[in-house]
Amino acid sequence: MRQIKFSSGKTVNPGKIIGLGRNYLDHIRELGNAVPERAVIFCKPQTSLLEDGGTIILPDFAHECHHELELAVLIGKTGKKITAERALDHVAGYAVALDLTLRDLQTQLKEKGLPWDIAKGFDTSCPLSTAVPADQVTDPNNLELQLKVNGIVRQQGNTSQMMRSVEEIIAEISNYFTLEPGDIILTGTPAGVAKINSGDILEGSIEQVGTLKVSVT
Ligand code: MG
Repeated sequence: MRQIKFSSGKTVNPGKIIGLGRNYLDHIRELGNAVPERAVIFCKPQTSLLEDGGTIILPDFAHECHHELELAVLIGKTGKKITAERALDHVAGYAVALDLTLRDLQTQLKEKGLPWDIAKGFDTSCPLSTAVPADQVTDPNNLELQLKVNGIVRQQGNTSQMMRSVEEIIAEISNYFTLEPGDIILTGTPAGVAKINSGDILEGSIEQVGTLKVSVT
């Protein structure tokens, strides 16, 4: 996937992809993780992006790839140490994303205190829908999310359940990294994560934002 597409027809070159872990309490509980004081932040490379309608290629170096449905925030304006009050001025749009995670490999790496990058950043690990411009979303902190796998609802939540709001996420991340146009922030996943298998069809939807449909080889 070379470019982020907007529903308006505009295209944007993708920048860095920054993920937020443990942002929904029900998902923290299902994995038995601690509630973080500081946001849990990781990056995925641009080669992880997969366009709507694409095919996830399960890597051969892990056995358990989990789906994580997430609201993606697309940055439209450069900023460093952005305040929460001004954070939404830096948002160009929103999209439906999957933060695919090799859970078995991630668990092994976590136990050893090692970085998770290879569990989060493999090719096709970041399917991303067509984006909607920010002004078409009334409140990014109150959107229903749903993921169906083979027609069955697996994840259902609302961004109002996020422990950190979109504004707080942008403020905290921009404290560490300069945010630039094309950067993509993945805001965390609600409960219901589970293994995907060859032949599965994944359909994500977020109210006011859109839909994403991908298959698994
Ligand atoms: Mg995630």
